[in-house]
Amino acid sequence: MSALLEIRDLAVHFPRPRRWREPPAVVRAVDGVDLDLRRGESLGLVGESGSGKSTIARTLVGLQRATAGSIRLDGSELTGLDARGWFPFRRRVQMVFQDPYGSLDPRQTVLSILTEPMEIHALRKPRERRLHALELLEAVGLNPHYANRYPHEFSGGQRQRIAIARALTVHPELVICDEPVSALDVSVQAQVLNLLRELQERYDIAYLFISHDLAVVRSLCQRVSVLYLGRVVESAPRDEIFEAPRHPYTQALIAAVPDPTRAAAHPPVLLEGEPPSPTRPPPGCRFHPRCPARALVPDDRCAREEPPLRTDGAARWTCHLEPGSAPEA
Ligand code: SF4
Repeated sequence: MSALLEIRDLAVHFPRPRRWREPPAVVRAVDGVDLDLRRGESLGLVGESGSGKSTIARTLVGLQRATAGSIRLDGSELTGLDARGWFPFRRRVQMVFQDPYGSLDPRQTVLSILTEPMEIHALRKPRERRLHALELLEAVGLNPHYANRYPHEFSGGQRQRIAIARALTVHPELVICDEPVSALDVSVQAQVLNLLRELQERYDIAYLFISHDLAVVRSLCQRVSVLYLGRVVESAPRDEIFEAPRHPYTQALIAAVPDPTRAAAHPPVLLEGEPPSPTRPPPGCRFHPRCPARALVPDDRCAREEPPLRTDGAARWTCHLEPGSAPEA
């Protein structure tokens, strides 16, 4: 699989909305992120709310401007493009949003929702657009006879299937899924995840899959990157992340997932408190105010020095602790 998306040192900063008596401040929502995604691959992006996951997604589809750094799609640089320059990449990078109720226009029929992106990108002749829309409805498990219905006539799971079909109408190479199943019932979640898997194989799509639900990420993604306060703290193949997480934050996130077998073997690493404000990230390691392993590092280096990048095969993480000396999850 060749590299499709390369993100280097991406920063997205914006002014904090002014509140009564608060001085102006800059929100460092994303602050030096590197990510790689290969064709046809699924990369999970996890972290607590406020970690920068959704800001990265919005930046990748041009809804938010990068402050610094580089985003390359198939070798082409996206940062710094104006709306016109970005237009061809809008077709290649599509997004599926969390809310299947808010993301579909209630005044449009399903057929109109599915043909509109093809019209915008001048793909196919009008009759072919209709046929392609009907094919995609079938591909996402909906009866093509429903094409003239409106979004309110469908359940949440069916609406998310329509949103997925809409993303696929323009043959994207990358689909960004921002919490696509978190608003759905558990049984419907499994069906939509199966559908995403089938479509990936059929159309060779890469997914950047954003979720706070690690079980969902584990079921769909081949690799996982963990974000904390605007930075990636660990990236590794799925099984390594879930079976032998290296960074104390990843260990704490995984320990919080209910798993009676693992919890019996290893007591969970406790994670206390809330992430600090992205307007004032802590010095040194950003995780140090909450890190249960900080005391294992001499001279309080965690509070003073940026942790080094460590590598082991395909795994990367940032921590002052020597490999193997962190408490097990
Ligand atoms: Fe914890 Fe220190 Fe490692 Fe940061 S660098 S994760 S504070 S041990």
